[in-house]
Amino acid sequence: MKHKQIQSALSRRHVLGIAASGLAASLLPVAGWADDDEEDAGASGNTTPALANTGLQGKRVVVVGGGMAGMSAAKYLRLWGGSGVTVTLVEPDALYVSNIMSNLVLNGSRNVSGLQFSRDALSSKYGVVRKAASLKTINAAAHTITLSDNTTLPYDRLVLAPGVRFDDAYGLTQADYDTRTPHAWRAGPQTTLLARQVAGMANGDTFVMTIPKAPYRCPPGPYERACVVADYLKRTKGTAAKVLVLDENLSIQAERHTFETAFNQIHAGTIRYVSGVSHISIQPATRSLSYSDAVGNTQVVLAKVINPIPPHRAEGSQAGGWLANAGLNNSDDGRWAKVNVLNYASTAPGASDIHVIGDAASCGMPKAGHVANQEAKICADAIVRAFLGAQPDPAPVANSACYSPITATTASWLTAVYQYDATDGKMKIASNGGKLLVNGVPAAATESSVINGDNFEDMGTWFKTLMQDTTA
Ligand SMILES: Cc1cc2nc3c(=O)[nH]c(=O)nc-3n(C[C@H](O)[C@H](O)[C@H](O)COP(=O)(O)OP(=O)(O)OC[C@H]3O[C@@H](n4cnc5c(N)ncnc54)[C@H](O)[C@@H]3O)c2cc1C
Repeated sequence: MKHKQIQSALSRRHVLGIAASGLAASLLPVAGWADDDEEDAGASGNTTPALANTGLQGKRVVVVGGGMAGMSAAKYLRLWGGSGVTVTLVEPDALYVSNIMSNLVLNGSRNVSGLQFSRDALSSKYGVVRKAASLKTINAAAHTITLSDNTTLPYDRLVLAPGVRFDDAYGLTQADYDTRTPHAWRAGPQTTLLARQVAGMANGDTFVMTIPKAPYRCPPGPYERACVVADYLKRTKGTAAKVLVLDENLSIQAERHTFETAFNQIHAGTIRYVSGVSHISIQPATRSLSYSDAVGNTQVVLAKVINPIPPHRAEGSQAGGWLANAGLNNSDDGRWAKVNVLNYASTAPGASDIHVIGDAASCGMPKAGHVANQEAKICADAIVRAFLGAQPDPAPVANSACYSPITATTASWLTAVYQYDATDGKMKIASNGGKLLVNGVPAAATESSVINGDNFEDMGTWFKTLMQDTTA
């Protein structure tokens, strides 16, 4: 039996090595990673997958936040760690609402209820313990956290995946976002409110949106939203309806070729893109907005709908927040948690058993759901290896894919493979063949050369597969 266990642990390590090495880890069916439990080998489809037989006993991991990162981490910690690794997922909301695809709620082709995902499979298929509560405090020295229901949870490893929170910005409050000027940058009731506001526009009305300085959640997302809304307005209201995009960045932050084509050709005359804006101020009662343009002149706009995407930060990193109180918001601007990208452990002093993944982390990769799923796997792999007394994979690879709808029936895509660069300890985009530099120039993400219906169809498949890998 002992021999079998050692063999199992070794084969697990072999699998983990493959798992963390990139594309392979991202979107394969669950059964592909459940193959080293002899009794259940061959499980596939909807059958209950086998947990790895690692021989580990009595290990406790608490995962906080059941979004793209947290759900993936909880699932893969159980799959790869085995039944001796107790995984507790702390998440207050009953259902997860996917941000991915939520821009399509704004043109009526999807609705928020269709973007809801249950977390039940995490418990029923993988044995994740679920706790409906929020994290309130972390005691890193004692290895405990306290929750909103006043319970205390002990951990050997803590994985934080709380996503982002939005600043009160441009003169607006959280109540303004909820009731008058929705950001809808976390999908849910604000998305439905924004869709209603867009549907209520008439020909000649203006939709104005703002984009915060990078880094922000989903680099192509705002430009995608501008396209989806412009397409909807042209088709349903008339060509006099306008979309004004006010970007605090100096240029388009992702898929530049795609969005320049979309703004200057496909949606020319409807979208006006203005970069390098500052000093945005919004009066929700009068629906007026003022800003400084790139040369410092003040401009004033009257809009029918105002959609500010405010600056955001890791949830809990605000003054007095639980992440800040634990000293984990250690990026230069205090907004994000810096991590070691080999295992996603916090780099804050005394916090090496605390891991931060997803949008809350500062790790050199974009804040995206697909990337969150990948970070979760590298982190889960590293935690299981640590429990087994091994080092993290020294050369992790992660991939990112993202589709952007440009109209109701066409889309583009962006993809990149990130590879660990040991010279400075960062994840960097690798070109095909794994090169970080091409003729001395850093490799760049690849974007689709065309915007078409095939991409739109592929987008549906990609989304379904990603969500299945994360939740099912
Ligand atoms: C409009 C839009 C379109 C997008 N499109 C894409 C796309 O096409 N492709 C892509 O890859 N990404 C896309 N994204 C980005 C993607 O949604 C995020 O990057 C991703 O959700 C980040 O995952 P996360 O787990 O870090 O955070 P989230 O998914 O936001 O999950 C965080 C979870 O933590 C919970 N939580 C917060 N605080 C606590 C606490 N104190 N205690 C317990 N739980 C807590 C929350 O309830 C939430 O469930 C898009 C985003 C938007 C807004």
